[in-house]
Amino acid sequence: MKEITTKLLVIGGGPGGYVAAIRAGQLGVPTVLAEGASLGGTCLNIGCIPSKALIHAAHDFEQARAQAAGTSPMGIHVKEPTLDLAHALLRKAGVQVLNGWATVEDGKTAVVQVGGETVRVRCEHLLIATGSEPVALPNMPFSGDAGGAIWSSTDALSPTELPKRLVVVGAGYIGLELTFAYRKLGTEVTVVEAASDILPRYDEALTKPVLDALKKAGVVLHLGCSVAGWDAKSGVHVRNARADEFALPADKVLVAVGRRPRATGFGIEGLQLTMNGRAIAIDAHCATSMRNVWAIGDVTGEPVLAHRAMAQGECVAEQVAGKPRRFEPMAIPAVCFTDPEVVVCGLTTAEAKAAGIETIEASFPFAANGRAMTLGAEGGFVRVLARKSDHVIIGWHAVGSSVSELSAAFGQSIEMGARLEDVAGTIHAHPTLGEAVQEAALRALGHALHI
Ligand code: FAD
Ligand code: NAD
Repeated sequence: MKEITTKLLVIGGGPGGYVAAIRAGQLGVPTVLAEGASLGGTCLNIGCIPSKALIHAAHDFEQARAQAAGTSPMGIHVKEPTLDLAHALLRKAGVQVLNGWATVEDGKTAVVQVGGETVRVRCEHLLIATGSEPVALPNMPFSGDAGGAIWSSTDALSPTELPKRLVVVGAGYIGLELTFAYRKLGTEVTVVEAASDILPRYDEALTKPVLDALKKAGVVLHLGCSVAGWDAKSGVHVRNARADEFALPADKVLVAVGRRPRATGFGIEGLQLTMNGRAIAIDAHCATSMRNVWAIGDVTGEPVLAHRAMAQGECVAEQVAGKPRRFEPMAIPAVCFTDPEVVVCGLTTAEAKAAGIETIEASFPFAANGRAMTLGAEGGFVRVLARKSDHVIIGWHAVGSSVSELSAAFGQSIEMGARLEDVAGTIHAHPTLGEAVQEAALRALGHALHI
């Protein structure tokens, strides 16, 4: 058996793992990265990038249709993500990539099956970055490919043809992003959600514009309902709060009820790491309960976000290189790419209340923002949440067209400890959506200018 000795072995080449490997390589740490499927992980291959490409394509298609330009939905092609970039960056950083599934033998050894060859890798530091996988419903297992009736998000991102009727189970991030995309492509979409609201983590003011847009687009919603099963003839069996059962006819059913850490099945159980539910427990250094075994990204649980995985990857690589680092962000922005988009950065109003923080809160509507008016996107608002005692900003919430682009400003202001006065006193270019950020801060101070 071939043997390799290295300082850092990274298992998993998603955004967490490949960023860790690149940063370690940059810092001169001898690094081996094992990836069993495709570099870029969920994010690049079956997640963030293809879903946003589909959303963009669906948006363009809807616009083209509105202008009677008339293209067939079948003519829409989501661009294949390119793996060359990740390969090139890893090569540039001097990382050795093994294309194969890794099995952990102990905290310093793993074997990787590379084609017909077994390679044993011995390392000083082991980094687990194996990501997550979609949760299936017990009464409705995934068909396993896009040709089958029960889809995971992976299948929904590579359809063989557009379904006429799609039932989406789960009105969270994946369910709603893909609901908008499929609806714009012309599919009849019905959503079944167990909670009484869509995007249950967010308050009603934030989700109402999304709910209104869904209804306007003709999406049928069954909130507070559970799924009892499926058969090809009658479709999805749904039970409402009164325990009445009804069937929703469907050609395909997208089950998007969450993702679970991929923390079993590759020998990792043998390390008997401390777990946090199904996720690997980590401390503020991204260290597990075993010395020099680290874990990052989705395998460590919520929030399941690519930018968190990347930031954790960088943090671990720097510690392996001997730098003092901790992973203690003030805020991790979360964006839901619905239409309108939703951004939450820092604490929600409910979280601040639960933490006993006395707050000032103010929002500024896009209806009073010049740029939004020129874009015909006057729906939604920006809301700021600050500590009452010292005006330090602890949360930003926004809903509206293109508000994802405001997430950088939101994250920076919180991470830098900005006060309301700092944002209110910063000149924001006119006409931009960013002016609503400044105006929200001004309004919290009691002197908004354009409302
Ligand atoms: P992953 O990206 O899952 O990568 C893990 C890698 O490890 C995989 O490539 C896997 O093949 C490999 N692996 C696993 N086990 C082994 C083994 N034993 N040996 C070798 N290799 C192994 N997040 C956002 O921030 N923004 C978004 O817009 C967004 N959209 C999403 C849309 C969808 C449809 C989905 C499904 C997810 C989305 N996410 C989004 C979440 C995001 O994709 C994940 O948070 C992110 O990919 C996690 O990165 P990771 O490195 O932890 O794991
Ligand atoms: P989610 O947690 O966002 O939403 C799941 C939804 O399904 C919830 O609303 C939940 O109440 C509902 N649900 C659970 N069980 C149900 C049942 N039996 N019947 C009906 N409804 C049920 O999960 P997701 O949409 O699968 O996404 C997984 C994760 O991926 C998200 O938490 C998010 O972190 C990440 N993601 C992020 C983005 C982004 O950043 N834009 C996009 C997609 C995914």
